[in-house]
Order: sequence, then structure tokens, then C-alpha cells
Amino acid sequence: MARRLDYYLERLVGDEQQTFHGAIHDFVDDAIAPRWLEWERDHQLIPDDAIAQMAEMGLFGVTVSEEYGGQGGSQLDLLLMGLALGYQSQSLAITPGAALSLGAKPLQLCGTEAQKTAHLPDLAAGERMFVFGLSEPGRGTDATNPQVTATRDGDDWIIRGEKCWSTNARWASHVIVHALTDPDGKSGHRSSCFIVPMESDGVHYQEMTGKDLWEQSSTGSIILDDVRVSKDDLLGDHNEGFRVMATSLNGGRLFIAALSLASLASALDKVREYAQEREIMGGPLGRYQRVQDVVLDMDIALEQGLTWLIDLCNRYDAGTLDRESAAKVKVECSRRASDLLTLAMEVCGGVACFDEFGLSRHHRDLFVCRVGEGSNFALKGFATRPLMPSITLD
Ligand SMILES: Cc1cc2nc3c(=O)[nH]c(=O)nc-3n(C[C@H](O)[C@H](O)[C@H](O)COP(=O)(O)OP(=O)(O)OC[C@H]3O[C@@H](n4cnc5c(N)ncnc54)[C@H](O)[C@@H]3O)c2cc1C
Repeated sequence: MARRLDYYLERLVGDEQQTFHGAIHDFVDDAIAPRWLEWERDHQLIPDDAIAQMAEMGLFGVTVSEEYGGQGGSQLDLLLMGLALGYQSQSLAITPGAALSLGAKPLQLCGTEAQKTAHLPDLAAGERMFVFGLSEPGRGTDATNPQVTATRDGDDWIIRGEKCWSTNARWASHVIVHALTDPDGKSGHRSSCFIVPMESDGVHYQEMTGKDLWEQSSTGSIILDDVRVSKDDLLGDHNEGFRVMATSLNGGRLFIAALSLASLASALDKVREYAQEREIMGGPLGRYQRVQDVVLDMDIALEQGLTWLIDLCNRYDAGTLDRESAAKVKVECSRRASDLLTLAMEVCGGVACFDEFGLSRHHRDLFVCRVGEGSNFALKGFATRPLMPSITLD
């Protein structure tokens, strides 16, 4: 049965982009899907050889500009990569996805020429990986005022504290650390970002075990124990660290919306196939109107989400995407896909509880889409502000 995602992409994107998406899909079908269940049952991270295969395909350089050795692709290309990989698993997609949108992107947007030349070619080749060190054990939504500090020592900076939940930490060569540099500064202008090599003295990484969603994706805690970096490692302007982080989050939120749609598309194909095959009370399951409701609602959500997201990706590339729109598409796609996946599981019944069927993984993973890169509750408050400007919202 043809994938519903392909049906919509044929209508919404050009031939070249369909070919790009199709090539990644084929790679997943041939090289990843046959091994996935084993990784899940072993509770293991994506193995290094699979990361290397993705690097060989150029997936870690999709949006890095060609002058630095990347593919020079657009945000729409990143979305297509997210859809093709995420159709199998969000853990798979977020690995190059976070490396690009939260690792390479801040460098592309805010780095000096020397920093870009030093790192981007290796990032594009998948030989290095930057991770995003915004969250801390005591600072998630409230990331404006980090507890990690950076204090001056001559021309150097000394960084202390702990970052947590950093995606890709297992494979990281560097962490972009958001640290307090001016406790008395104006809100939003108290912190700076630093590019910190993971091999520096005083950097300790620990994989955060025990999570059963995005299970094959690495999530790490990074302790910074008086780590010395030079002034050349400052990323962006001094005391403008929050802006560096926030700028990157717009693209990251579009990517999380893409992961939500990838899970929805994958589930939709499974449900409509099962509803046609499964015999119940002398006929196919799909003859019940309640089942048809769920299938059609999933299809409507997929078409609407793709159309909306493609438009926002084009606006992102044109430099006209506002922060509220990126937040809203992330909130809506993740919320709708999560709700529909619960119904999809119910439509399929017992088989949906088993990993082989491939629904429960997407059902679990969608929770991360609701919480990551700004929780939906927090983003709703932020996106509501321009609608009621006279009201001070919590
Ligand atoms: C698998 C995974 C990967 C991640 N990867 C990264 C990464 O690479 N780099 C990184 O820096 N961080 C990462 N994070 C952290 C993620 O961005 C945070 O979890 C998120 O920002 C929310 O922070 P928190 O979990 O501390 O929630 P808290 O800030 O403690 O909030 C708890 C809950 O309170 C509610 N809430 C918060 N604010 C409001 C509000 N204003 N109005 C109403 N309700 C509110 C929300 O429901 C929220 O979920 C990752 C997290 C996970 C789970």
C-alpha cells in the first residue's frame, strides 16, 4: 500500500525534493528498519555504524552551506529528512536533526568566520557533533537565568555547573554551553554561549538512562567542573547568549513538528492497512464508522500539518518566520498527533501493545514532542502574548 505521506508530498513539494525524501526512505527501509526492533529490545542507542551510514549519506550536512562542505539545503529539506527518518522512529530522526538544528545552526547563525571554518566542515561530514546545552537540572522552561556560570580569568573564561538532557551527548565533540556571565544584567542579557570541547579538562558526560521514549537517542548530562575556555570560544555576543539559544529554537520547533507528523503518517498507514485486513464480526474492522472517523481525522491532520509546516519552512528560509508561528505549529502538530495516536492504538486493539506492530513507539515518542524545545503549556503562554497585549500573562 502506497504511503500516505508520499501521496501528499507529491502534491506539495517539487520533484527534486521528493527524490531526496525517497532516497532517505529507501535507506531506512533497507539499512535501518530490519535492525530496529533488536535495538529497541536491547534498549540500546543507535549503534555507531548506523550513525556512520547516515553521515556517509550526508545527513549531518543537509542544511550546512556548501562553502563549508554541507549540502546547502533549506529548512524544507530538513523537514523532509525528519519525515523520512521519523517515519521509522523519532530517535533516528532527532539524531541528525538535533545535530543540525541545535548543533550546527547556532554556529551558522552566530559564529565568527574562524569558528565556522574550524567546525562546520567536520560537522557536515558527521565527524564532529555539537550538542545544545540549554537545560539544567534546575532550569528547564526558565532557561533565561542559567545556574551554570562563566567567570572571567584574564582572557579566558571558567565554566562551572551542570547541563542535562542534551540530545546526542553520547556522540558529542563539543557542547554549546549557555552560562550566566552578568548576574546583574537586564533579563535576557545576563548570559553568554561558549563552544566547549567535550575533551576539555573538567568536562564529564554521563548518559541519562531509564527513559523509555526517544529510547535509541542519546540524552546526556554534562558536568562542567571549572572548565577553562578562551575568549575565542564565545559564541555570539557577550551577554547575548539567550538570543543565540532562542534563535536556534525556531528551526528546532519546526523540526519537532515534523517528527510529530512523521509519527502520525506512520501510524496512519498502519491503521488503514489493519482496518482493511482485520476481520471482525464477519467483516473488515474498517467498516465501522468510528474507525473511519479516526482514519479520516488522522489523514486530515496529516494534510493540514504538512501544508502548514511547509509554508512555515519557506518563511523560515525567507527570514520572515515569527517566533509565535514556530511555537504554534509545534504545539498543534504534537498535540493533535498525540491525541490521534491514542485513538489509533485503540482502533487496532491488542496488537497495538506489541513493539512489532510499530505503533506504541510513536505513541510514546510523541510525548517528547509535547515537552521538548519548550513545553506546549509554556509555549502557549508565550504565543498568546501578542493576542492580548494589555494582559500580563504568567
Ligand atoms: C528526550 C529529551 C531531549 C532533550 N534534549 C535537549 C537538548 O538537546 N538540549 C537542551 O538544552 N534541553 C533538552 N531537553 C530539555 C527540554 O527542552 C525540557 O525538558 C523542556 O524545556 C521543559 O523543561 P523541564 O522539563 O525542566 O520542565 P519545567 O520547566 O520544569 O516545566 C514542567 C512543566 O510545567 C509546565 N509549565 C512550564 N512553564 C509553564 C507555563 N509558563 N505555563 C504553564 N505550564 C507551564 C509544563 O507542562 C512543563 O512540561 C530535552 C528533554 C528531553 C525529555
